Amino acid sequence: MSTTAFYSNKDEIYSTYHGNDLGSVYTPECTAFKVWAPSAEQVLLKLYSTGSFYEEGAQVIGIKQMLYDASTGVWSAAIDGDLKGVYYTYVIKTEKGTHETQDVYSRAVGVNSTRSEVVDLKATDPEGWDSDRHVLPDKPNDAVIWEIHVRDFSSSDTSGVSKEHRGKFLAFTEENTVIPFTSYPTCVNYLKQLGITHVQLNPVFDFGSVNEITGVEYNWGYDPVNYNVPEGSYSTDAYHGEVRIKEFKQMVMALHKAGIGVIMDVVYNHVYSTADSPFEKTVPGYYFRMQDGKFLNSSGCGNVTASDKVMFRKFMIDSLRYWVEEYHIDGFRFDLMACHDIDTLNEIRAELDKIDKRILMYGEPWTANDGENGISGEDCCNKSNAKKLSDRIGMFNDDMRHGIKGGSDDDSKGFIQGSTHSAYNVIAGMMGASSVTFGNWANEPSQCITYASAHDNLTLWDKILKSNWCDDFNTTDKLYIGQNKLAAVLILSSMGIPFMLAGEEFARTKRGDHNSYKSPDSINSINWTRIVRYSQLVDYYKGLIQIRKAFSPLRDNTTKAVNDGYIVYNGQTISLTIKNDTEGEWKMISVIINNSDNACAPQIKSQYELPKRWYIIANGDSASAKATDIFDPEDNIPPHSALIIVDADSYDKINGTEPLKIEKKVEPKIEISSEIKEMLK
Ligand code: CA
Repeated sequence: MSTTAFYSNKDEIYSTYHGNDLGSVYTPECTAFKVWAPSAEQVLLKLYSTGSFYEEGAQVIGIKQMLYDASTGVWSAAIDGDLKGVYYTYVIKTEKGTHETQDVYSRAVGVNSTRSEVVDLKATDPEGWDSDRHVLPDKPNDAVIWEIHVRDFSSSDTSGVSKEHRGKFLAFTEENTVIPFTSYPTCVNYLKQLGITHVQLNPVFDFGSVNEITGVEYNWGYDPVNYNVPEGSYSTDAYHGEVRIKEFKQMVMALHKAGIGVIMDVVYNHVYSTADSPFEKTVPGYYFRMQDGKFLNSSGCGNVTASDKVMFRKFMIDSLRYWVEEYHIDGFRFDLMACHDIDTLNEIRAELDKIDKRILMYGEPWTANDGENGISGEDCCNKSNAKKLSDRIGMFNDDMRHGIKGGSDDDSKGFIQGSTHSAYNVIAGMMGASSVTFGNWANEPSQCITYASAHDNLTLWDKILKSNWCDDFNTTDKLYIGQNKLAAVLILSSMGIPFMLAGEEFARTKRGDHNSYKSPDSINSINWTRIVRYSQLVDYYKGLIQIRKAFSPLRDNTTKAVNDGYIVYNGQTISLTIKNDTEGEWKMISVIINNSDNACAPQIKSQYELPKRWYIIANGDSASAKATDIFDPEDNIPPHSALIIVDADSYDKINGTEPLKIEKKVEPKIEISSEIKEMLK
């Protein structure tokens, strides 16, 4: 008995179609409709005046029998005249019954997405769209990714965004936003200064859990309805399908203008409602993995799509290409990527490469339920199979995440809270999961997404507090901030691709809510005043990002830097020392982390000659690409703090500066809280 694919392409029972014109294709003279429905006995095209039956003037304005081509499985119809803004459905009769459905390939839909819309895409382009350009990293490891939910970004009045744009795509287009009555930048204005390169948006395709008419529910949106349509509740007008398309493009353009790329979180692994899905209504039983007539459930959401089938694989590829070409999307994060098969992801990589090899691709290397995936463990995109995937398909390094902070939702401790048994996972992660010595599930650091927190589970801050038995979410206790800083060093000064949940850098709290997918705005929305309260932490992240940008081995996508690196763990400190051959950069860096309760001297080693003099660029208080002090190898590193030092000779050469002659510890260290600083301004 075969243990490989439950269903493979060679088992395809239907005629398949390889054209790129499925859906409705508009011209002012004529609109062509094509739907792949090989098991249908009859398909009717139904035209409507509105996107829903309850809008004023709702009526059926035409019904047309579609024609079948048995060689491709495609039903088609063409209607003369200008159909821009006309809504439509297909009425599909199969042996499973007759169902009315929107188009699987919908590019626009009406409110709450039950009818498709004929759209003139060109007319949705905002002014200046022709000159909008992708923001793509030269290599994947140049990216610094910040994960944000559209609504959370601006739903709070602390965002300073105008009321009508709060929680919407258009919030991203507001420039110079500040916390009301202050000069503290918020939203995109803030991101420009933070230094991140890309935002990853939680689902922005059309999902089903939020009623687009009332918009009162909150949801992360991991419940896809129409994959090729932006979500209506994020638009200022969910009724007219073209509005959200234009507003989405305006958001992308504003981020690009700020120098920030846009990564979409794509959830091709399941659909919101199996029975109501256009996929199931169009070709019953085809698009999902099934066993004995039952929908499999590796997504944990009641169904799992069949990426291994010809026409769903084609759908994924078409959809991703569409987001890149029509919306200028710069990268994709695949939800529950292990639900998908390896061949599909590699084929997607090859297809995206035809557009631009720099488009980012990475995903979650797990399912919600391996037992119901329908494809063998050898065929799915999990960490053990990373080496069968392209070097440019990344995976979240959950071992590192666990090592950094302990269990995601419990009160266990990880490395940053002083645990020693987490050191191994941390070390392996610092090497981009690509070191032969320390465990290498990844081909190269370009496959390793390094992170401490994401939308799932407790925020990093809440986790730190829980593991320290603290329930004051607004505390500024130095111990907890210090632990957060250690996480920041581990994420931003390791090899791999750094990733963080929005607000990790200002101690974002969801007040202990570990699964806020449908919790109210009061839990989820960003409280921008925290950038003031935790300004020292924000500055620390900023500084670490600057250091990362200044030292290219940390951003090496190959194992060269891994091989040039040397890690020592002495039970109290980890030091990672890396040589650098890049002209015009520091020749060597050492990243040292002391997670113990005692001050101790680090052991710094390298297979190359160590510098005679070192400068400190980051310590437990601050971080920047600028030297602040001389490092004496005899010096102790304070407990629970990090130190980043660089070769002093190359530093002086690059900066054209005289060697630092800082008298050590002449100035007493004075701590001024951000509130006081504000008063002194
Ligand atoms: Ca929706």
